[in-house]
Amino acid sequence: MTSLPLIPAASGAPAARRAAMPPRHLADLDLPGRQAAVTELGEPAFRAKQMSTHYFGRLVRDPAAMTDLPAAVREKLAGELLPTLLTPVRELACDDGATRKALWRLHDGSLVESVLMGYADRVTVCISSQAGCGMACPFCATGQAGLTRNLSTAEIVDQAVYLAGVAASGAVAGSPSRLSHVVFMGMGEPLANYARVVAAIRRLVAPAPEGLGLSQRHITVSTVGLVPAIRKLAGEDLSVTLALSLHAPDDELRDELVPVNQRWKVSEVLDAAWDYAARTGRRVSIEYAMIRDVNDQPWRADLLGRLLAGKLAHVNLIPLNPTPGSRWDASPKPVEREFVRRLRAAGVSTTVRDTRGREIDGACGQLAAAEDTDRDAPPGATA
Ligand code: SAH
Repeated sequence: MTSLPLIPAASGAPAARRAAMPPRHLADLDLPGRQAAVTELGEPAFRAKQMSTHYFGRLVRDPAAMTDLPAAVREKLAGELLPTLLTPVRELACDDGATRKALWRLHDGSLVESVLMGYADRVTVCISSQAGCGMACPFCATGQAGLTRNLSTAEIVDQAVYLAGVAASGAVAGSPSRLSHVVFMGMGEPLANYARVVAAIRRLVAPAPEGLGLSQRHITVSTVGLVPAIRKLAGEDLSVTLALSLHAPDDELRDELVPVNQRWKVSEVLDAAWDYAARTGRRVSIEYAMIRDVNDQPWRADLLGRLLAGKLAHVNLIPLNPTPGSRWDASPKPVEREFVRRLRAAGVSTTVRDTRGREIDGACGQLAAAEDTDRDAPPGATA
């Protein structure tokens, strides 16, 4: 008998190669894991702490600058534990330099993006958890291309560490130089890459030299609403902020806007969100992109208000960033104002998100990492 291959060979790049994960990096490991790795390489365990202090504590990534390690040791350990994961392809800035989008090439050629946003009182990075996304939300640029692969823990962490270094260099004028906030609102569905995202969060919050030392409360995980994963996250000893991309208060419309709703309905996902809020004491952020004549009707505001009244929730309305070729547009301002008014009248705390990074396609839902479909750089964008 002959056995048929389970996966037919695809034309073009084989799937296995496309899905190749990057080499191991120290940010994939906790400190004991790094010590074990260093020992296996025949070096004393304290070298792990030295390298970690450079990478997480001083934001130094160039082995040549790690002068407290003997040159030969430096080369050997850097080769094994600090492989280059992200190669910057392009950096764009707007909002007078307060918003910077970075496009990275990964070891397998995949492209992902991150955004650094400086404010008067804080510096936030928006990071990607997957190359592409499999959730297929029709209004989101990333959703259009499908999923290429999950990012490794270190590929996720390195976006934040790299941009923390950019912020530390004073590049974001008028903002603190220390990175304070991380939002998983770049490319990908973080809860579909659960284990690596949770490990990445652990690295982000562990004090230096094990990690970046951010506050758990300053980390936001945004999800389409994968109910079992939300429940699992509630059981981790982490109190990160959960953002739920709701976008519609009724199943009929949400089935279309957030296709995973066909699997977990509005009521189920909200139940999971309230359980998350109860377990962590953290207010859940309800994300709602305002799409003209699609989800912005007064009755939908009222329905949303009824669903959220009395709950530990805050609504973030996001003016839709139209993606190229999309039939949808942002709601007119008066419609948006009425939507806000009705939610507040229902007792629901509501704000409208600023639209940072719009001109450089760095705003919510615009990250597409399509280097070769590059549109003309807008005036003010700096390469
Ligand atoms: N997969 C996660 C993270 C994605 S991006 C999630 O869906 O939550 C973060 C937010 O940007 C989500 O709320 C997403 O729905 C929203 N978004 C996506 N496309 C958008 C667009 N074109 N305009 C405004 N917001 C958008």
